[in-house]
Amino acid sequence: MKSSVRLGRVFGISISLHLTFILFVAFLGMVYAFQGGARAAVTGVSFILALFLSVTLHELGHSMVARGFGVKVNGIVLLPIGGVSQMEEMPEKPSREFLIALAGPATSILLGLLLGAVSLLLYGPAATFKTSITGGMFIPNLARVNLLLAIFNLLPGFPMDGGRIFRAVLANAMPFDRATAIAAAVGRVFAIGLGLVGLFTNIWLVFIAVFIYFGASSEASRVHIKTALRDVPVNRVMATSFQTLNPDDRLSQVVEHAYHGFQEDFPVVLDSKLVGVLMKQDILAALHEYGPGALVGKVMRKEFTTVPANSTLEQVYAAIQTCGCSSLPVLDSGRIIGVVTLEALGRYLVFAGAGPGRV
Ligand SMILES: [Zn+2]
Repeated sequence: MKSSVRLGRVFGISISLHLTFILFVAFLGMVYAFQGGARAAVTGVSFILALFLSVTLHELGHSMVARGFGVKVNGIVLLPIGGVSQMEEMPEKPSREFLIALAGPATSILLGLLLGAVSLLLYGPAATFKTSITGGMFIPNLARVNLLLAIFNLLPGFPMDGGRIFRAVLANAMPFDRATAIAAAVGRVFAIGLGLVGLFTNIWLVFIAVFIYFGASSEASRVHIKTALRDVPVNRVMATSFQTLNPDDRLSQVVEHAYHGFQEDFPVVLDSKLVGVLMKQDILAALHEYGPGALVGKVMRKEFTTVPANSTLEQVYAAIQTCGCSSLPVLDSGRIIGVVTLEALGRYLVFAGAGPGRV
């Protein structure tokens, strides 16, 4: 099922609403209507929509700067917890990450100040500088919320912008993975502090703290894996002796191969050309649907991902993550020369990092 609805494009960047976002706004509308009638519902929902328009502009800030640096931006998705810019491969050049991360909060601050100025003109200082978020007027409230959005995003932990800005500053003086490890550690300490404060003041802070704590861990391990796999050629860990199938083989034979060997995924080869792959889940589904007599050629995948022989393990890892598969055929001018598995990458990470020198 499609989980988001596309709204349209702004500057060539597609903006989508996640279904949970639509449910969230509908739910809030009902709560407002229940509490204060139709008028309250309209005001409440318009404010939420204006808030998410602000979030969209914040994300557009990131996306536009990223695109300026040649990063491919797939779009912005709005979730009830905020917006997410879907970008391919963020630059590791510190100055670029710094500017991309800063662009979001800077947009929010600018928007907040702009709305604040409008509010001053329209309503004067008393309404503009009123400290409460609830019960105030639309424009002053929106101004405050934008400034809060900037402060929230500048918290010094991944995946917040503040964490990225902090790492970029560190990465000016040290290697990227070391900068990430330090930024992640600081983020975790900050999250624990924030969680403790939240326990006694506001339960939302505890949720944010948990989010930042796990964000730090996942960013640290992502960068650690990328660094360890960089510049390692695929032939370092690819299997060169492996079982292939013929399109005329029957599923019962495939099951025998799986019982007697180590493989669960099989390349299908005809006249030394790779014509398909049969993954574990395909075998299970085909056995269920057609039984053990079915031909491999009928049930194999004809569209599949491969990696060229000159790939690095970093590229293989990215390809495996994109296709969601557990193994990939390695091709050299159209001929299969090996198979690389997620397991083999995992083994490499364990063994290569085990001793003082890389094995
Ligand atoms: Zn941001």
